[in-house]
Parts: sequence; structure tokens; C-alpha cells
Amino acid sequence: MIKVKNPIVELDGDEMARVMWKMIKEELILPYLDIPLIYFDLGITNRDKTEDKVTLEAAKTIKEYKVGVKCATITPDEDRIKEYNLRRPWKSPNATIRTYLDGTVFRKPILVKNIPPAVKSWKKPIIIGRHAYGDIYSAFEYKVEKPLNLEIVLKNDNVSSFSVHNFDGKGVFMVLHNTEKSIRSFARACINYALSEKVDLWFSAKDTISKIYHGYFKEIFQEEVEKRRDDFEKVGIKYKYFLIDDAVAQLIKNEGGILWACMNYEGDIMSDMIAAGFGSLGLMTSVLVSPNGEFEFEAAHGTVRRHYYEYLRGNPTSTNPTASIFAWTGAIRKRGELDDTPEVCNFAEKLERAVLKTIEMGVMTKDLQPLADPPVENYVYTEEFIKKVKENLEELL
Ligand code: NAP
Ligand code: MG
Repeated sequence: MIKVKNPIVELDGDEMARVMWKMIKEELILPYLDIPLIYFDLGITNRDKTEDKVTLEAAKTIKEYKVGVKCATITPDEDRIKEYNLRRPWKSPNATIRTYLDGTVFRKPILVKNIPPAVKSWKKPIIIGRHAYGDIYSAFEYKVEKPLNLEIVLKNDNVSSFSVHNFDGKGVFMVLHNTEKSIRSFARACINYALSEKVDLWFSAKDTISKIYHGYFKEIFQEEVEKRRDDFEKVGIKYKYFLIDDAVAQLIKNEGGILWACMNYEGDIMSDMIAAGFGSLGLMTSVLVSPNGEFEFEAAHGTVRRHYYEYLRGNPTSTNPTASIFAWTGAIRKRGELDDTPEVCNFAEKLERAVLKTIEMGVMTKDLQPLADPPVENYVYTEEFIKKVKENLEELL
């Protein structure tokens, strides 16, 4: 048994993700690590029962102990309210935690030798950081139905106005905003994560066209990077600014191993493009990083509802637990780094190697099988996959 010094905050979740979570914990973590876990049940039933207080409690506890690991959770919509007989459409737990920690979400793919990325030059992960505040996501929009002289009026100490456009017929317009505080937090979280992952940091925008709005993001990134100049040198990573069009072109030629920081809209789009390019949702992890250096690890996929209904009917499912296992190893490694306990980091490393070895042996779940090169004849169910990972892990320990 390897002793873990300080606690990891564990956030349990829903449906198939919850079923896999339990298997992972019981088969791959608890038999090997003597680990203080602070457990919060974020399953939808318990969120409903606690009026969602449990989510905020969990977020506070992550702030205290710095490291959390989270299972996928249901964000209730109309159907779910009926299905689970909920009192209210509780907010997305991820949004609550992200707001509380003022964090940024990074998505990082897991690379496996026999699951080749769609882009041939990609050899290492491309991590995407999305600024999840403002721009078109909290814009004012208006549909112009008849001729209109559009002016912007600013009211502070004195009043000033600017002419925007003279509509001579129908049209549309939109007003965007962002704040220094939010952009700065985003830049700092990106810098923390690039340093933590030891990868170059890219930021891209369209400041040739939007000199003030996009230019502001560019300026703030530059300032925050300057403050950490010594850390960049110590770790041996670089910061680069690209025009967004140049960034996309460079990315296709690049071998990866970078953190690409994107504005809200670009991040929304590019993260799905990168995820598809690397294969399956089952191979995509996600980390929430706060500007103060708190970390919460999870799989990027949801609760895998369709598989759960199969499971409830008593059928075995071939759901891929890889991203959830890597959420655990991410948290365990970070705990080891913060506690200065290399044997803990070492365990995380070995568990990851055991998972990769399993897939590379041709033992894989249904989502990966069609992507495998060389081809693999049969896929396995989740239990069999985890059992093989355990065997491979025991060989490494
Ligand atoms: P999902 O869980 O991401 O799954 C969508 C589909 O992707 C699955 O039906 C499955 O495709 C495939 N897939 C995803 N993860 C997989 C895995 N590990 N192994 C194999 N295949 C996988 O999305 P959903 O089922 O539409 O959403 C269910 C719930 O998740 C929703 O209530 C939503 O609110 C929640 N959600 C939570 C989070 C989070 O907590 N971070 C994120 C997203 C969504 P096939 O059915 O074709 O096999
Ligand atoms: Mg999207």
C-alpha cells in the first residue's frame, strides 16, 4: 500500500459514469493506495435532496485541499426533471464549481499507439483551453425590422455616443463584452496549466481586425506571461501569440505537445474539432484549473445515458472507462506533486501505462475498435477491460 499524505476531494456522479466510477475505485485505486478521500455525492438524487448545497460544499472543499476528481453528472433538463422527479432544474454542477473556483477548463486527449489521430502529424496531445466567459455567449442581440440609425450611448460621468451603422432596411446587430478580471484569470490559469504540463502555450485571436477587443486579450496575455518569465525559462517552455488563422494552419503541421488558449467561441468549436481528431470521447480528459492553482480532474464525456439504460435492462455494456481512469491518475499525480511524494506520482504513471498497454494489446471497448490500426477483431465489455488493466498494473507494481 502506498500512503497518500493529503486528501483528494472525490465527487461522485450519475448513470453509467457512476457505475464505472465505482469499478475503477474498487479495482484500481483502493487496493493499492492508502488515500484519504473526502467524498461528496453529486448524484442527481442527492443534489435534489440537499437543494444542491452538496455541490457548493464540494467546490469549497476543493479550494481547501487543492485537488479534486469528479465523475460525470446530469445537468437536468425537462426530461430529467420528470425522469428523476426533481424539485427544480438544478444548475450544471460543472458551472457551479467553475464559477466558485473562477476556473478554466482544459481538454486533453489521451494518445494510444494503435488509435492513430486523424491528422498524421499529431504525435502528442493538443490541449485546448477555452475562455468560458462573455463574448457571444452573453451578448445583446437585436433584429432590425425597419430602417434604423444605430448609435451606442455610454453613460458614466458624462454621456458620449458613437454612430455604429445606418440601416436602410432589415438586419441584425449584437453587442459583446468581456472584463479585464475574467480575461486575466483565464490567462493566469492557462499559464499555470502550461507550466504544470510543461508544454508551450499558444494564444490566438484576430487582433489585426479587432484591434481593441481582441487586442485587449492579446495585451493581457502578454502582461501575465511577462510576470512569469522566470518560470517559463525554468520549465523550458515558450509562449507564442498567433493570429487565429495562422494558428489553425500551424496546428495541422504541428506534432502537438502544446496548450492552445482560445477565446470563448473559438474554444467551443476547436475543442470539438480536436476531440474528434484524436478519436473518441472515451479518450478525452478534462481539467478545471483555477488562477490560484486548484485542480479538478474529470472525463470530458457525460454520464453515457444510452449505455446506462442498457445496463439497467441487465445487458453488459462496452463503455470506455479510460478517460475516467485518467481523471483519477491526474488527481493522484497532482496530489503527489503538491505533497512531494514521488511514489504517489509513480503509481499514477504505472496505472496510466497499464491502461495504454491494455489498449495496445488489442483489448479495447466498442468505441475504439473501429479506429484501431492494426485492426482488432473483437471488443470487450467494461468489466473485462478493467480486469485486464488490473492484471497489467499488477505486473508493473
Ligand atoms: P455523453 O455521456 O457524452 O455520451 C454521448 C455518446 O457518446 C454516448 O451515447 C456514446 O455513444 C458516446 N460516449 C461517450 N462517452 C463514452 C465512453 N466513455 N465510452 C463509450 N462511448 C462513449 O452524453 P449524453 O449521453 O448525451 O449525456 C448524458 C448526460 O451527461 C446529460 O444529462 C448531460 O447533462 C451530462 N453531461 C455531463 C458532463 C459532465 O459532467 N462533465 C458532460 C457532458 C454531458 P454511443 O451511444 O453511440 O455508443
Ligand atoms: Mg462545442
